[in-house]
Amino acid sequence: MREYAFELALCAHLESGDGSASAPGTDGLLARQLGAACHGSRVMDVVEVVPGPQFDDRVSLCPGSIPVPVLETDIGPGTARDPRRALDVHPDRVEGIVDAAVDAGYLDRERRDGCDLVRATGRYPAHWVGRLRGIENKPDLGRPGDLRRQLRTDVSLALLDEVVLATASHVTGAHLNRIPDAVGVWRFDPETGEREVVREPTPLDSDGPGVEPLDRRPGRTDIRVVPAAEKRVARRRLAERAFGKGWRPDAAAWPDCARVSVGECAGTGPVPDCPWKGRIVDPGSECGPACGGYEPGTAPEVDPAAARADAAPWDPDAGERRRQAGLGNFGSSE
Ligand code: SF4
Repeated sequence: MREYAFELALCAHLESGDGSASAPGTDGLLARQLGAACHGSRVMDVVEVVPGPQFDDRVSLCPGSIPVPVLETDIGPGTARDPRRALDVHPDRVEGIVDAAVDAGYLDRERRDGCDLVRATGRYPAHWVGRLRGIENKPDLGRPGDLRRQLRTDVSLALLDEVVLATASHVTGAHLNRIPDAVGVWRFDPETGEREVVREPTPLDSDGPGVEPLDRRPGRTDIRVVPAAEKRVARRRLAERAFGKGWRPDAAAWPDCARVSVGECAGTGPVPDCPWKGRIVDPGSECGPACGGYEPGTAPEVDPAAARADAAPWDPDAGERRRQAGLGNFGSSE
């Protein structure tokens, strides 16, 4: 099985549990393909946000990903602020960041005395993230690619609280010896949904500074020490992106190919299924006119957000309902 289909099947399996002993999985949220670096280019296959004590407050605050520069300011729900003064970013970035925060439902604009001001729609809950778990997928350990280097980077930087390798392969002692001791190992069968914990992960020092390997040349690796404060900002960025992104293929990414059909993934679909290839396909890397089976057509209508709302053990629509209620109140007061 290709890594893409393996990844979707694993996410569907984790989401169908609730984190309890009888239904191991997650009661939090999952997202795929997120940057998990501070200065490098590491991308984690799956990130799981384990709920913290204020998780429900974050869920009901707003539906989208809040740009982290906004959260590093004193912009709150109390006093409207001038974003050009409040945001510690290059002036050229201010408008884009404010637009993204408004789209996310976190900021409202208002105009006073000829000035464009912003105000938060609610108080940001600082403790909504319990733990961040990274999952690196390598269905076939016989083709490890860059796996060892990636996992060593994860452990050394310790941006996440724990890291797990998920594979469909039989895991031998030799495999375990080749990956860092702190990395947990799961064996997962995407056909049956069975998951065996081969080794539990060891918690990483995510609160402390980290060391991030960067450029590698023969005989030499450049590293960068990342202070704890910088990691804290990067963790918040990662959690916010996970919140808004989720793990399902984005509706806009589905191919405009007449052959593609809407498949199911452990009842939590939809996923792009291609009868011509006989399997789930990754539209980003496999579909388009360059594909031998491509037939111009219309991409199917899918609703990943509705599927997320149906399947997730939390209420992804709560933030949108609160936003709509706020808009309604605003309208009725005019
Ligand atoms: S573009 Fe190719 S891989 Fe994608 S759905 Fe069409 S035939 Fe399948």
